Amino acid sequence: MGRFQYSLLEQAARVPGKPRHKTREVRIGTVVIGGNNPIAVQSMTTTDTHDVEATVRQIHALEAAGCELVRVTVPKPEDAHALTRIRERIGIPLICDIHFDYKMALAALDHPIDKIRINPGNIGGPERFRQVVRKAKSRGIPMRIGVNAGSLERDLCEKYGFPCPPAMVESALRHIEIAEEEGYHDIVVSLKSSDVLVAVEAYRLYAQLADYPTHIGITEAGKPPYAVTKSAVGLAPLLLDGIGDTIRVSLLGDPVPEIAAAFDILQATQRRVRRPELIACPTCGRLAIDLEKIVAELEQRLAGKRLPIKISVLGCVVNGPGEAREADIGIAAGNGKGMIFRNGEIIRRVEEAEIVDALMEEIARWEQENQHRLPQQRDVEGLGRRRLPLISS
Ligand code: SF4
Repeated sequence: MGRFQYSLLEQAARVPGKPRHKTREVRIGTVVIGGNNPIAVQSMTTTDTHDVEATVRQIHALEAAGCELVRVTVPKPEDAHALTRIRERIGIPLICDIHFDYKMALAALDHPIDKIRINPGNIGGPERFRQVVRKAKSRGIPMRIGVNAGSLERDLCEKYGFPCPPAMVESALRHIEIAEEEGYHDIVVSLKSSDVLVAVEAYRLYAQLADYPTHIGITEAGKPPYAVTKSAVGLAPLLLDGIGDTIRVSLLGDPVPEIAAAFDILQATQRRVRRPELIACPTCGRLAIDLEKIVAELEQRLAGKRLPIKISVLGCVVNGPGEAREADIGIAAGNGKGMIFRNGEIIRRVEEAEIVDALMEEIARWEQENQHRLPQQRDVEGLGRRRLPLISS
């Protein structure tokens, strides 16, 4: 008997990854979320919604960056009046964000919007919430019950002492119950907090209790780059647990960079793999080639490629061969040359100047040979290299 219980290792899963939290499907315009559908990337405009030109311009910029759902705030009647004009000029589903005034929710629901977000903590009580639910139901429009730790109902703060995870989840559940009493099930839930620990535990608790899809995010994350790191720190444990059906990275300022950050988080957690995974070492004194230049060129030449391939580019022979063997294609450098690996076997040795061309040739060959394994439709979720992740359209 050794000091450690090695039998545990034999029983442990060799391919890591948890299944997704089983949630109902909810249609938001042309995008279906929940179930096995891809985790959709959402953002929010920063313009005055009634400034139709500026709002549409920003939504087009978000669309060009890959945004799949967009939210606009509707604080005033003039914002509600602009919704139809905005909706007809954009290509992605339009979500209306409502705080404080349930009449704004009712006004927004007169327009061809795709979803409404209500904050149960400030909508004015259960009866007003019920009125919004009835109208959303009659219009066939889904609703997010968007709990926020910063604006939780007073009675729940008193019951639990402060806006903690169980208080937030109770807020969501009791509003779900009201909606269900009205026969309404087109519900999405969010439990946001600017405190990573609070948000993560709230979503985990919710996932044990209900099956409506979740929109996940760390609210008021602040200014990049810290805000991107903070969002990743909060979203990654949820995604790894299988929680989350739509995602937003909230950044102060221009919302366009939110999209790339969200897709990076989905890629790194392998919940939605959409591009080659490039593994590159940080370099050190053992470096045998100009790795930075090679990686920069490779990144440029791979830009836009929707291939779920793992490519490793390492600067010397310490970890190079090992990493390259675990990747689909890899190089390990030594003395100004590169050994190219494919599925763990050395297939070529090339001069440093030829490394990028040689890698691109091998990537093209891999793509050709794996055509039959590359699904044509949108991905469900990334499953890691060992089971080929599906590709997004
Ligand atoms: Fe250094 Fe080699 Fe490791 Fe790169 S792979 S960090 S060059 S030891």
